[in-house]
Amino acid sequence: MKTTKKILLSEHEMPKAWYNIVADMKNKPLPMLNPGTKQPLKPAEMEPLFAKGLVEQEFTTERYVEIPDEVWQLYKIYRPTPLVRASGLEKALDTPAKIYFKNESVSPVGSHKLNSAIPQAYFNKIEGIKHITTETGAGQWGSAMSIACKHFGLDLQVYMVKVSYDQKPYRKFVMQTYGAEVISSPSTRTAAGRALLQRDPNSSGSLGGAISEAVEAAMTHPDTRYTLGSVLNHVILHQTIIGLEAEKQMDLVGDYPDVVIGCFGGGSNFSGISFPFLRHNLLDGKSTRFIAAEPASCPKLTRGKFEYDFGDTIGMTPMIPMYTLGHDFQPADIHAGGLRYHGAGSIVSQLLKDGLIEAQAVQQLETFEAGVLFARTEGIIPAPESTHAIAVAIQEALKAKEEGKEKIILFNLSGHGLIDMSAYDSYFSGKLSNYDVPEEMIAENVSKLEKLA
Ligand SMILES: *Cc1c(COP(=O)(O)O)cnc(C)c1O
Repeated sequence: MKTTKKILLSEHEMPKAWYNIVADMKNKPLPMLNPGTKQPLKPAEMEPLFAKGLVEQEFTTERYVEIPDEVWQLYKIYRPTPLVRASGLEKALDTPAKIYFKNESVSPVGSHKLNSAIPQAYFNKIEGIKHITTETGAGQWGSAMSIACKHFGLDLQVYMVKVSYDQKPYRKFVMQTYGAEVISSPSTRTAAGRALLQRDPNSSGSLGGAISEAVEAAMTHPDTRYTLGSVLNHVILHQTIIGLEAEKQMDLVGDYPDVVIGCFGGGSNFSGISFPFLRHNLLDGKSTRFIAAEPASCPKLTRGKFEYDFGDTIGMTPMIPMYTLGHDFQPADIHAGGLRYHGAGSIVSQLLKDGLIEAQAVQQLETFEAGVLFARTEGIIPAPESTHAIAVAIQEALKAKEEGKEKIILFNLSGHGLIDMSAYDSYFSGKLSNYDVPEEMIAENVSKLEKLA
């Protein structure tokens, strides 16, 4: 039997609006709080930090938000992205399941991050903002923001977590090629960075710490705003283009997913692939399962606590109602840099609390084993982050085989791993191991949170 390998949409079939799941949630996400007053955060309080257009999206309850034409035109550089039948992987697993993946690795920066970087740069540009600050872990978000800012003539400062800056320099070179300034974090440029260095002069940095620095830099300079690559509602909104396209593509082949899987850092690509389908669970009686795949070494969804917490390490951001390991959680140095974040977005957290989505932690060795099998059967080397989704997709396909059932699996390939080959090298040379966070460490971190509320 012939199978269609790649399901493509033409340019004019690309969605013209993003989907906002808040409109359809029975239990709305709890409000963010002003960390000083502990009162619900007002949009105006976010405006010194974020472009107004993005703040508006952060709070909107409209079901659809139109994609501005200038953003839509730039999306066309790499969108619509292909939906691919993983027929090679299916064959290797000898499974009755049909496995599809949405290939977000085809973007010029190699990941889904550009889907939000372009609109974030755009909304800053139209308000007359000149300078942008941001942070980056492994460098994917910084790379995306670098080219997005260049498209709109904005300059960009990226605070890059020190361990990646030193050990994985290639995305630093990518950012520099696109014209951004890249600063190793913690740095001496900001009070936050200096405080972190005082605490630990040999600090290898963390995403939360780099966020503190980028936020401070934006607050203390004129015509400057901050941007964030995950967690917040407006970022998740932008990423729904992934699932909206996938829905049309599944429709073309006459399939509908029984299970949708995304890897989970702060929740943007998982939400992007899931929410347009979850809409049909909420509104049309569908019963698709949604699984967020997180690393066992940073298990906020499966072992964290639902509490108000800061988005950064120093405590400068609004307080977000989220599943969290505590804002000063220091994740082990696993290779999936993009998944080393202590918390989850407020929408995803509410959905998890209400049992509308599921989460699963995966060990590092299993993720690389899955990534290598995927590379050898589908020809694409996945980002270490994306291998978490692949590992869970494989588990689901093997379950289908055991049960002798047909099952339709859809996962998001959030990025390729061609700039992460040192991680594969570590895997092949046996330097990687599994890791479970000790229960005491989580307990100690989250016990501090109750005092915040
Ligand atoms: C940043 C990143 C992630 C994790 O971020 P989310 O916001 O959870 O999607 C996953 N995969 C890739 C390739 C990334 O760059």
